[in-house]
Amino acid sequence: MKTKFKNLLVQYKGGGYDGCFWEWNYFLFDSEGKFHDIGSSGYKAITKRDKAIELLNTDAESRYGGREYYKYGLKNKADLEEFAFETAPTTVGPIISAVNKAMNDEVMFWECESCGEKSFDNEYGPFHTGYHGNGGIGVEMEGLLCGDCYSSQICGHCGEYVGDFDDSNAEWADRESIVEEMELNPEQAKALEQEDERCGPYCKYCMESHAESLKKESVG
Ligand SMILES: [Zn+2]
Ligand SMILES: [Zn+2]
Repeated sequence: MKTKFKNLLVQYKGGGYDGCFWEWNYFLFDSEGKFHDIGSSGYKAITKRDKAIELLNTDAESRYGGREYYKYGLKNKADLEEFAFETAPTTVGPIISAVNKAMNDEVMFWECESCGEKSFDNEYGPFHTGYHGNGGIGVEMEGLLCGDCYSSQICGHCGEYVGDFDDSNAEWADRESIVEEMELNPEQAKALEQEDERCGPYCKYCMESHAESLKKESVG
């Protein structure tokens, strides 16, 4: 039985509040082989060193298919990439932050999808850029953005995340075409422009409804 582990992050099936439900939990052996519980929940949580060692001496392959646990060597680049791939975006920031704190070193980081800046904690993000259903229970966030990119990519009016300006699917307002399509007079167009400069950038929907109200105001 192997009892010494170092620089090792382990993701395992923890949780289990109602006996038929689990979620990924995490523990860590630091550079001196000290055990740290860095994210556990439910009755299957591993909070003690001996339980952690017991788990690591069992087969990682599940009899039901898939894995019972994943081991990530903190000195191994491929392992750290696998961690990012296997981990839900909402979990990435807190786990990375907890690992770096426990290791007292910047061993892990996450990268902003937009500017590529590296972060070693979850103080300023990651912010999440989207949602998808996860098959019934709950919603998982997608995308990782730093605080600067996130705040520059939200609508100045409704605060919704819109996206990268270079992304043609992002629904940013195109002021000139809105002025044209909605047949604003020069005065209304000027008011819209001022509003855009003051509060922008605007999403398409907010600017359209703003243009609508400018038209109503000048009619009424
Ligand atoms: Zn960024
Ligand atoms: Zn908006």
